[in-house]
Amino acid sequence: MTLQDKIRHLVRPEILAMTAYHVPPATGMIKLDAMENPWPWPEALRAGWLELLAQVPLNRYPDPSARSLKAVLREVMGIPQAAGLVLGNGSDELIQMIIQSVAGPDQVVLAPEPTFVMYRQIAGIAGLRCCTVPLREDFSLDRAAMMEAVEREQPAVVFLAYPNNPTGNLFDAADIRALLAVAPGLVVVDEAYAPFTDASFMDELPNHDNLLVLRTVSKLGLAGLRLGLLAGHRDWLAQIDKTRLPYNLGSLNQASAWYALQHKPVFDAQARDIRAARAALDAGLRAMDALRVYPSEANFILFRVATGRADAVYGGLKDAGVLIKNLHGSSPALADCLRVTVGQPAENAAFLAALETLLQ
Ligand code: PMP
Repeated sequence: MTLQDKIRHLVRPEILAMTAYHVPPATGMIKLDAMENPWPWPEALRAGWLELLAQVPLNRYPDPSARSLKAVLREVMGIPQAAGLVLGNGSDELIQMIIQSVAGPDQVVLAPEPTFVMYRQIAGIAGLRCCTVPLREDFSLDRAAMMEAVEREQPAVVFLAYPNNPTGNLFDAADIRALLAVAPGLVVVDEAYAPFTDASFMDELPNHDNLLVLRTVSKLGLAGLRLGLLAGHRDWLAQIDKTRLPYNLGSLNQASAWYALQHKPVFDAQARDIRAARAALDAGLRAMDALRVYPSEANFILFRVATGRADAVYGGLKDAGVLIKNLHGSSPALADCLRVTVGQPAENAAFLAALETLLQ
């Protein structure tokens, strides 16, 4: 058997069929592709952080239940007292843990389309079927079609990104409550973009025993740390926590996140600045007649260029030193669509200027 034959023989067909998650190189570019907070830490914060890190005993395993970090997260994220809490190495890992907890050959994951690609990707890796329901033309949730799919598929988990990635909009909260009422399994409301909107289901946790709220600190300004959190009914979380590897959060991560969250007002102020910059970026895009710009409650904006032009606009921006995300080809609903992350005002201005030149 050749090596290629062995690989084809041994690796599961669904893995062979997958394409790996691709992250393009960004060295030297204006990086507006990954929904990061564009602001580095203030110098004053750095000194105290390094002092704390110097005391972390790296010869010891980390605290497996991350007690101090959980306490501060409960406070700053407004997690209801009665709710359980599980932490992950990024919210991606929590999506994986949720899916692994219910995985089985007959189980189904349901999500609208387009949405965050990892729901489908992780379901595929775990061997679950992912059923998708198209969003409406304006990217709102199609309540009737979602309800019908829930009835038909009886999904173990429904994933709803709120606001949605890559479209940026918030689904109607009444539609989500209607799904919570009929779903036979879990409904995960993924609030990755919570810092940039006032809407949240966190306060509704006590009302629904099948609701899980997923958050991350990535968009707040700590993407390099890898820390996500899942809040929900303690009985569900006790089961999901069994799928977690014992030391999934390193000591340096725990200490860094704990320290950063002591200074949450610094990050909240940055999020407010990003919201203001989003309004300016939105206005700049709307001033260009050739574009359709979609309203956003997140730290990115989706826009549509003229038919067949997305690859050229993406490439032209790249040549001009600006990296954004090209969504053309990723879903029929996203034909000719590009997504730009809100950067620093000067970066946004450079992006708008380069785009304007390309559209002329
Ligand atoms: N959920 C949504 C909706 C996202 O867009 C992302 C990242 N792009 C994540 C979860 C994952 O975030 P992280 O793993 O950095 O916590």
